[in-house]
Amino acid sequence: MRWSQFFIPTIKEVPADADVISHKLMYRAGLIRKLVSGFYTYLPMGLRVLSKIENIIRKEMNKKGALEILMPTLQPRELWETSGRWHTMGPEMMRLKNRQDRDFVLGPTHEEVITDLIAREINSYRQLPLNFYQIQTKFRDEIRPRFGVMRSREFIMKDAYSFDKDAEGAKKSYQDMVDAYQQIFQKCGCSALAVEADTGIMGGESSAEFMVPSDTGEEEMVCCEHCDYAANSEKAESHGLFDQTGDEGALEEVHTPNCTSVSDVSAFLKVQPSCLVKTLLYVHDTDKKVLVLVRGDRNIVEMKLIQYLHASDLRLADEKEIEEVFHAPVGFVGPQGIMGVRVIADMSVLGVVSGITGANKKDYHVKGLNLKRDVPSFEQAHLHQVLQGDPCPKCRKPLQIKKGIEVGHVFNLGTKYSKALGATFLDQAGQSQLAIMGCFGIGVSRTMAAIIEVNHDEQGIVWPVSVAPFEILLMPLDSDDKNMLKEAERIYTSLQEQGLQVLWDDRDERAGVKFKDAELIGIPYMIILGKKSMAKGLGELEIRRGHQKQDVPLDQIVERSRDLIGHAYRDLGFLDVPQVQGAL
Ligand code: ATP
Ligand code: MG
Repeated sequence: MRWSQFFIPTIKEVPADADVISHKLMYRAGLIRKLVSGFYTYLPMGLRVLSKIENIIRKEMNKKGALEILMPTLQPRELWETSGRWHTMGPEMMRLKNRQDRDFVLGPTHEEVITDLIAREINSYRQLPLNFYQIQTKFRDEIRPRFGVMRSREFIMKDAYSFDKDAEGAKKSYQDMVDAYQQIFQKCGCSALAVEADTGIMGGESSAEFMVPSDTGEEEMVCCEHCDYAANSEKAESHGLFDQTGDEGALEEVHTPNCTSVSDVSAFLKVQPSCLVKTLLYVHDTDKKVLVLVRGDRNIVEMKLIQYLHASDLRLADEKEIEEVFHAPVGFVGPQGIMGVRVIADMSVLGVVSGITGANKKDYHVKGLNLKRDVPSFEQAHLHQVLQGDPCPKCRKPLQIKKGIEVGHVFNLGTKYSKALGATFLDQAGQSQLAIMGCFGIGVSRTMAAIIEVNHDEQGIVWPVSVAPFEILLMPLDSDDKNMLKEAERIYTSLQEQGLQVLWDDRDERAGVKFKDAELIGIPYMIILGKKSMAKGLGELEIRRGHQKQDVPLDQIVERSRDLIGHAYRDLGFLDVPQVQGAL
């Protein structure tokens, strides 16, 4: 492709709403333009990258036997009523009516549509397993779209759905997708970590998120550098660092006037916050009360509590509800002597033998709380937020907290949707069974941004060769030099004959401008033709990453480029340079 015949609108200015580097660079390098908040147009360079990511995904999905389909974006309300999600999805789901006043949604995801299809099409175990996927536009009315295509309202997702006849098959389908995802992200040049995650609104049994470690990531993950433990911070656990020792003593009231918070009490009594036991009253599933105990220096992850309780809603109790249970005001409550309310002790307080907590009396706390002795019965659960340095639950070494970009998500869904939408089949014995499902998403557009987050330098993007809009940039520096142009033409044709995707900067621009643009758009390899070196029969071959340059005889430069590019593909896990369809 000749630059002058293409469209690469590079700019210096950064849009006002761009605060992460990938967003800035995608704009400046002419990959995207904004329509309105959360909606973007992919320009020719951007679309080339997107298509390459999609094709890497396709190949790996196909290798695992998944079959590509394309489902409608618009979905009827009835299906979402049947699954129960019409009411649980909330305002993120875009809803609209057609001229007959019928309700539709703009698909945020496709479990309902695919399960309905399977329910209609499948009737025998002989037709299973099946894994269907699509690469398609999704709509989510995000409350605050941000970071460009990383969190937008319209975005491209690869979503796959597996259907199996038994648990063993479902396990294999899940593992196949985990393996495919590792390959996909590696080949895209943004290796991702699979971390244990919550199932959230999807429901189901287990799930893992694929995270690209990056400081601009919105997700926090807890990982161990000594073993393979990694989990989303809403799910992460730590080993029991909380075996507290200390002298056991009798419960003793202490006067703590106006000390209602952990910091008030610990300052007043001159003790560490970790000596306190926080007593939190929650209300879930409308009116069920539960008392949660956690160490004074720790917080509860409410998502963990929701999962533990299998709750459909959860909130902290209000002042009136607290008074009803404890007969004492907020800030002075404790679990001792409280009857008739379910009590859950977080791991952080299990060993407590001399804790401090509210006395159930205004302006008083108690010392000497012994959990086993003073709280008649309680359940144990892992509810606290893991902090940097806590011991790993697997190997007990200190855990790290890192930020990550969630580029993919895999769920083991069980039979939630097949049950709701009637996806059954007859097994070998002629018995009706529910298909066991998995669903597997990749944010294709978000992956593009994540690739840039982990592949850039001061000057611009440094594309991994597999997803670069072009593999090599040809840059003759003097557009008036006939000889140089002739040589450029020869190299251009020859690179194309080698099956390489080449962009020829044939613009009549100053060398400085060409170099700046080249750095910004980040084509991984570059052949530079200058007067001086050409006179010696040489051209310059530059690797964008690290700016390594070498002089290469002109008659070898194509072959050398082909070799370098081949190596780069193999480093990313490809067998060789993938064949592109059609001349580029
Ligand atoms: P998030 O927690 O970031 O909102 P999610 O858990 O809602 O993501 P899924 O429903 O699992 O996302 O969707 C699958 C994938 O789609 C995600 O892993 C992510 O890469 C991508 N994705 C989700 N929401 C957006 C969005 N608003 N813009 C771009 N990509 C998105
Ligand atoms: Mg979301």
